Amino acid sequence: MTSDITPAWSELNLSPEMLELIAQAGYTIPSPVQAKAIPFVMDGRDVLVSSQTGSGKTASFVIPVVERFKNKNGTYILALSPTREIAQQTGAVFESFGAPFGLRTVVCIGGASIPQEKEALASSPHIIVATPGRLCDHMERGNVWLDFIQCLIFDEADRMLDMGFSKQIEQISEQIPKERQTLMFSATFAPKVERLARNTMNNPEQITIEKAEGSVPKIEQHLVWVEEEKKASALMNLIRNEPGTIIVFAKSKERVYQVWRTLEGKRFKDATYMHSDCTQEQREAAVADFKSGRYRVLVATDVMGRGIDVDDVAHVVNYDVPREPEDYVHRIGRTGRRGKTGMATTFAIPFKDEQGIKAIAKVRGVAAPDLPSQNQNQNQDQERDQGRGPRDNRGPRDSRGPRGDSRDSRVDSRGPRGPRDQNQNSRPPRQHTEDKKPNNPVAQAAAPVAAVSKTTPAPVMEKKTGFMSWVKKLFN
Ligand code: AMP
Repeated sequence: MTSDITPAWSELNLSPEMLELIAQAGYTIPSPVQAKAIPFVMDGRDVLVSSQTGSGKTASFVIPVVERFKNKNGTYILALSPTREIAQQTGAVFESFGAPFGLRTVVCIGGASIPQEKEALASSPHIIVATPGRLCDHMERGNVWLDFIQCLIFDEADRMLDMGFSKQIEQISEQIPKERQTLMFSATFAPKVERLARNTMNNPEQITIEKAEGSVPKIEQHLVWVEEEKKASALMNLIRNEPGTIIVFAKSKERVYQVWRTLEGKRFKDATYMHSDCTQEQREAAVADFKSGRYRVLVATDVMGRGIDVDDVAHVVNYDVPREPEDYVHRIGRTGRRGKTGMATTFAIPFKDEQGIKAIAKVRGVAAPDLPSQNQNQNQDQERDQGRGPRDNRGPRDSRGPRGDSRDSRVDSRGPRGPRDQNQNSRPPRQHTEDKKPNNPVAQAAAPVAAVSKTTPAPVMEKKTGFMSWVKKLFN
């Protein structure tokens, strides 16, 4: 949608009080998803929306739903979120737009106190925001009845299904009267999302926000082919050369801790981490400290990463290629938010990660980048042409890995180190960012790749342009 046809907030049939709250929030114009979804939601229609993270989707349901239900008493609105952090953020948005109209919001999430949530539910809040598992828990205990719900919202439906919540979602949907409004938001319309939509929605208006409409922020994406044992030094090089904030995504909680330990061991004192074994308090502390700038680098798993609503993340690093290609979109959506530009670098292991990279390209509807195996074939052809045999896997290969990388991969149950644990009152010095004019962080991350070029078949281009040929601009 171009700006000349983007409606103004005042054209969306919202009350003057709501327009005032929107202005206070600093939302000057509706984002594409808001411009498209709000009129249908205001009309009471079911709406199925495909939009990316960071598109303003939360306000696209919160604002019209509050408008519709602001004069009613009783529990009418239920929003289901995949993670605790997303539930909390959604709860906060409902709070800012709903509380001025007297609407009360209760957030029910794993890790919080059951008795406290029970008491809050007993007070008949207007809005419940919950993770499916915790809500089912309350239903089984008889703490909540859903007979009065008139608006059911599935936020990040694809994610909830990926996380295995389909049974709970079914259980919850069955308890809610059929005559209701259902809103579903999902990054993709995967078959399982379509199935859920068919089973729970009534003739939904389907809205797809195209990338060109600005839902995908300006993110420069890079791919670095790097052997596993060189990833840690690639990451450290990148951190040294990136002056901004960085989120590093790793594939498991053990891995998150391992990466953080490596950084810690190399005196990167401005790094923290979070994963699902951290307590709720520790997670909140990690996000708060990252947001406040106390820590510049946050190492996280996918589930944790999705809950981080920080506007100024300069760089997302995929230390491991995501298991699900859709997670790539969610991960990189942490940067380039609110019209800012961002950078994303993906470390991929030659050969091993080729399928994963191809899958990401497919999900994004773009051509796959050059793959080492293709380059190997080209190299072999070229070498045969030159009368030589194919390149062998000669050359020293350092199998020890970076020091500190694997010494202790146990998950530290203390959780992220932060001021609350350590009584530190000031932000640790940025030991690795003192360069006035930083080098290109991606090129620096790629440097170790040059060192492994003997163990991985080199692309033909490498002969002309050195290791930068390994750094491909990916999916832009
Ligand atoms: P979401 O996609 O809901 O996670 O929102 C991403 C970010 O965009 C949040 O920090 C919102 O506060 C912000 N936001 C939502 N709508 C707008 C808007 N119309 N203009 C500017 N920022 C917005």
